[in-house]
Amino acid sequence: MTASKLALVTGANRGIGFEVCRQLLGKGFRVILAARDLEKAKQAAQQLSPEVIPVALDVTSSESIEQLRTWLEHQHGGLDVLINNAGIYPDEGQNILKVPVHAFREAMEVNAFAALEISQALFPLLEKRKGQIINVSSEMGAWEDLHPSTSAYRLSKLALNGITLMLSRAGRGHISVNAVCPGWVRTDMGGPDAPGSVQEGASGIVWLAEQVRGTGSFYQNRQQIDW
Ligand code: NDP
Repeated sequence: MTASKLALVTGANRGIGFEVCRQLLGKGFRVILAARDLEKAKQAAQQLSPEVIPVALDVTSSESIEQLRTWLEHQHGGLDVLINNAGIYPDEGQNILKVPVHAFREAMEVNAFAALEISQALFPLLEKRKGQIINVSSEMGAWEDLHPSTSAYRLSKLALNGITLMLSRAGRGHISVNAVCPGWVRTDMGGPDAPGSVQEGASGIVWLAEQVRGTGSFYQNRQQIDW
């Protein structure tokens, strides 16, 4: 029974995160929709349901993370599902020999270190509910897919995968931590030519949120894939 589970989705004002919120609602979750711009969070929440709780969260700001943690502890006392979805794609197609190092730093900050910091902050609240962390990663960060193009993005998702594995070991017995690739889907990031719909991309994430399916695994299309 998942009716009363509380889920928080980062970067949820648009794209996959927004659609994940919509589908979670349909599965009976209580949903906290986080966006770095509170107004955008409110607008997105209004499009879904008055029950969706909009919150401000800039995932790269320690202060913003701490504010959210304090609010969550006081208002809800715990959390069942954290979905680290916010992400950037700063170097599409570029070769590793040409990508400026600042693009690597930006990608690592948003796609990897932010997910780590949020997970560290909310870990105790998740432990209270034997909850789960779902990191929205990409097969582009899988070992066998480490081509030299789009290398800042790939490296950041490789790092996110490593963070997922290490957190899963830290949380064993208390919380489950997994990564999921939504597939290449049509969002602002994926572009209009992506083969999949945003609904398809989100559904694999929501499938994972609905039920704990072990820990320390990487999923795509509802199936385990290699790191
Ligand atoms: P979009 O570009 O459509 O949306 C990205 C979201 O992340 C936006 O809500 C954006 O907020 C938010 N975001 C970026 N930086 C921050 C920040 N510092 N703080 C808070 N929020 C932030 O991307 P998608 O929906 O396509 O991607 C979602 C996730 O799925 C990403 O992690 C991506 O890497 C992953 N993914 C996507 C694929 C695809 O084909 N689309 C394929 C594989 C993985 P704002 O509106 O304020 O910019």
